[in-house]
Amino acid sequence: MENRKPGEPVIQVKDLYKIYRMGDSKVYALNGVDFTISRGEFCAITGPSGSGKSTLLNMLAGLEHPSKGEIVIAGKHIERLNERQLVAFRRERVGFIFQSYNLIATMNAIENVALPLSFRGMARKERTRRAKQYLKLVGLEKFMYHMPNQMSGGQQQRVGIARALAVDPQIIFADEPTGNLDSKTTMDVLRLMQTIVRERNQTLVMVTHDNNLATYADRIFKIIDGKIVSIEENHREVDLMALDKIVEQAAASEKNGSEKNESDKNGSDEKARSPRPDKCDKQEGESIQ
Ligand code: ADP
Ligand code: MG
Repeated sequence: MENRKPGEPVIQVKDLYKIYRMGDSKVYALNGVDFTISRGEFCAITGPSGSGKSTLLNMLAGLEHPSKGEIVIAGKHIERLNERQLVAFRRERVGFIFQSYNLIATMNAIENVALPLSFRGMARKERTRRAKQYLKLVGLEKFMYHMPNQMSGGQQQRVGIARALAVDPQIIFADEPTGNLDSKTTMDVLRLMQTIVRERNQTLVMVTHDNNLATYADRIFKIIDGKIVSIEENHREVDLMALDKIVEQAAASEKNGSEKNESDKNGSDEKARSPRPDKCDKQEGESIQ
């Protein structure tokens, strides 16, 4: 977790506009947006339906061209890339997790995860090995040969996560990744994404209309009518990994009969960026859905 220091800027957006022309009228889907995201950050983009969240994410991922403005990803101006270069950019740098999973119905879990690896020219044996490795990482070792329709929504989204991560992207974009999942599965999936990207110091940008889910992020960008109206640092330490560790440690120390660290408990609970169990106030964790 030490690698969650503020890193170098990985996404820089300057004066970004996306204007759709509808007959005579114009829709300002993005209306002058500026921000910077650093390596290792988990940012949530929230806002009501139609506010421009997906438009923004699609533009960051090189899926759509801006009408005006700059998008610099890992030092590269992606608004200047042509379609072919954008395809290469997405292949090499970006993982995308979709609300509706977007798995290929006629492929099993391994084949789905291996598909983007084949686009990279990886040999079959190696991509199968890697797909299996990532399916294990997301807890699907028993479902590797299942087809999408033989899996629950949560399992399918885990395949989607494995597929996004298997190419080891610098940045992962997720558009309402838990939008089709029940609340328990939503928590599992969020926790999984949060844990994996933190461990690897990857950058995660997640769109959600659900303010509750946004509290998992390090920063919350609120967008209304194509404008960012606030960027909030999330000081609440909602680190479920840390909570898990506390529970594990408590269980272990109970078992060992060790009476350790009453004195650790009076640390301040504010702005703890690293998951130090002694700084993680259980009540705060419990207040989060
Ligand atoms: P959100 O993801 O926040 O719900 P979107 O980014 O999908 O919002 O849309 C923002 C605005 O841009 C909406 O008013 C939407 O109708 C409009 N919009 C999005 N895509 C298109 C398009 N391809 N053509 C015309 N208008 C669009
Ligand atoms: Mg949307």
